[in-house]
Amino acid sequence: MNNDALMEKLVALCKRRGFIFPGSEIYGGLTGTWDYGPLGALLKQNIKQEWWKSMVQLRSDVVGVDAAIMMNPEVWKASGHLEAFTDPLVECMACHSRFRADKKEEIEIHEKTHNEKVEWTNPKKFNLLVEAKLGVIEGEKQTVYLRGEITQGVFVNFENVVSSTRVKIPFGIAQIGKAFRNEITPGNFTYRSREFEQMELEFFVRPEDKEGNKWFDYWKKERMSWYVSLGFNKEKLRFRKHEDDERAHYAKFAEDIEYDAPFGWSEFEGIHHRGDWDLSRHKLSYTDENGEKLVPWVIETSGGVDRSLLFFLLDSYKDDPSTSSGQARTVLKLHPRLAPYKVAVFPLLANKEELVKKAQGIYNDLKPQFMTAWDARGNIGKRYLSQDEAGTPWCVTVDFQTLEDDTVTVRDRDTAKQERVKIERLAGYISNKLS
Ligand code: ATP
Repeated sequence: MNNDALMEKLVALCKRRGFIFPGSEIYGGLTGTWDYGPLGALLKQNIKQEWWKSMVQLRSDVVGVDAAIMMNPEVWKASGHLEAFTDPLVECMACHSRFRADKKEEIEIHEKTHNEKVEWTNPKKFNLLVEAKLGVIEGEKQTVYLRGEITQGVFVNFENVVSSTRVKIPFGIAQIGKAFRNEITPGNFTYRSREFEQMELEFFVRPEDKEGNKWFDYWKKERMSWYVSLGFNKEKLRFRKHEDDERAHYAKFAEDIEYDAPFGWSEFEGIHHRGDWDLSRHKLSYTDENGEKLVPWVIETSGGVDRSLLFFLLDSYKDDPSTSSGQARTVLKLHPRLAPYKVAVFPLLANKEELVKKAQGIYNDLKPQFMTAWDARGNIGKRYLSQDEAGTPWCVTVDFQTLEDDTVTVRDRDTAKQERVKIERLAGYISNKLS
């Protein structure tokens, strides 16, 4: 399948099955915003849960916070964002469309739409922070900024976290939350949005080259293996070092994790060595157990929830020309821990009361433990196909044999093979596969 076709099919599937809808669609949309539907909201939650588990729950050197989106504007002055959180903007003199000067491909595509040579304005710095007004008296409202990165919420709470917990350097503070950027050219579906979610770790280390480099390499490896452990095809992932002229204002050095997307290799997580940029700018420091005062360096892992969700979907999308039953299907081979529904329960026939009752009992028993879907529409083949598109790893069917021996068929999404499992073993069977 060619790249454009894959992207088109995925966008259509997202809409049709309730993963992702255009934001405010009934009012014509709002550029750069997207809403997650019933399946998308579950997938997003699962990605965030897996991230939190590996970055906070399973570690003894990381704690989590959840800071406010709106902060005192002084934060953004100190962090350098008011001055330097900019992209270079150029305008086509013929049609006044605006582009990022550093996105050469987009510029070339635009130039091809004009017959004659395109003249561009000189690049000017365009600040990406989104403004909001706070207060109740017109004329006295305060300008605040919706956070352009969630990171600053961690730094402003650095002292609060150190004094309220038992963390000792090296340690990390993790956070997941929304960020906002007035992107010049939102596009490629959710890839470049104006409202999006980040999952970030700020890891504080002693301000020494050896420590900085060691932890930078450590987190690079950790983050890449996390993505691979959740099913990404390794060949479609790579690291890319930032060139000197593309590094953010705060970064000593940086590498991105990129995915081979239909629209080219694209970043979805950055590993940044922020040095002591932020803590120094906020005039913060740390006192170690020997009473030594120091300004720690920060190694940051900054992932996008929406971009990884999009790439998990693209990577798991398969058009399967023929299954063992001979039917063509579209299947999302999502890792079972990410799949929106873990299991679906069906009565073989919707008009046989005993089957429906038995299936409902199983559905009610599984629901407290797993996201469980119910489907009694159409024929069984169609229900399987529908669950394949939703990425549900296991489908449980109650048939006439169930009424005799309390076994059900469990059909595996990826192989389309079925096996019979005792009802009493069903929850354990699913839990084992998920662990
Ligand atoms: P780009 O160069 O694509 O604009 P960036 O280098 O500015 O991205 P960072 O500031 O490093 O991005 O942000 C960290 C992560 O946040 C990115 O890897 C990405 O996953 C996510 N992110 C950043 N901007 C957006 C956006 N406009 N839409 C969706 N996710 C985003």
